[in-house]
Amino acid sequence: MTLPKYAYFKGKIVPYSEAKVGVMTHALNYGTGAFGGVRGYWNADEEQLYVFRPLDHFKRLLNSARMLCAELDHTPESLRDVTLELLRKEGLREDCYIRPLIYKADEVIGVRLHDLTDEITIFTIPFTRYVENDEGAHVTVSSWRRIDDNTIPARGKITGAYVNSAFIKTDALRAGFDEALVLTDDGHLSEGSAENLFMVRDGVLITPPVTENILEGITRRTIMHLAREEMGLEVLERPIDRTEIYICDELFMTGTAAQVTAITKVDHRPVGEGVMGPITAELRRLYDDLVRGKISKYRHWNEPVYVKEAATP
Ligand code: PMP
Repeated sequence: MTLPKYAYFKGKIVPYSEAKVGVMTHALNYGTGAFGGVRGYWNADEEQLYVFRPLDHFKRLLNSARMLCAELDHTPESLRDVTLELLRKEGLREDCYIRPLIYKADEVIGVRLHDLTDEITIFTIPFTRYVENDEGAHVTVSSWRRIDDNTIPARGKITGAYVNSAFIKTDALRAGFDEALVLTDDGHLSEGSAENLFMVRDGVLITPPVTENILEGITRRTIMHLAREEMGLEVLERPIDRTEIYICDELFMTGTAAQVTAITKVDHRPVGEGVMGPITAELRRLYDDLVRGKISKYRHWNEPVYVKEAATP
């Protein structure tokens, strides 16, 4: 992976090689950090880079930070502005991924959340596809369980919690699958290792509610909106039983990185006809147009990076 040229670090944009922490750093030892994952999409026709829903991402990041008792002099707007400045300096003219990371920066021994210094860093890298086979993924149901809200809150994007996702993903890939879905302690479907889950049954789009130990995905929210407003679909948030995904018509995962990833096989069982279904295909098409700024009514979700000269009359 190519390294970024710059990073936002300790309040300013510095060469990436200067954005370094010591080995005693609290977050490195105890997983006491919170992060985000935002995408920038290159629109070749307009020669513009659009960041997708940055304010929603930074709002969630600051909420994760609150769960960690982190105090930062930042608002979603100030983080968006820093990100736009960083992207301009990095000068990317391609799809990219933006990673903001809040971390307990003190070099001390002692597990706790309070009485520590919080820092934020942001960097960006070129990025294309995250899940292999995103038009027809083969997933398994993980033998790992999703972390519970009373263990490590999944609605916070907390660095230490991603060891759970790493177990889920590694075991899935080593067993020959593209990704895994994970169950709650109650045995309901929660989500993928880094994606939310949707199922279509009898024309209704169904996704687990936010109380099923999911990350409250911004792609999830976007897809629910598109399904209702652009496709007139009924969208339900309700618990999903394990065997429902064996008999549903369509199944897909959503995430900033994974975008809309079609699932066509679960544990060697075909989903529906065993190929991507029509609702998934249409949502993929709509989502791709939307994130690249091609649907005018949703342009408020597309934050342009480069300042354009006003067109001459
Ligand atoms: N669940 C988990 C565990 C994730 O890490 C992600 C990726 N951020 C998602 C769901 C999808 O969230 P979003 O659509 O906001 O990227």
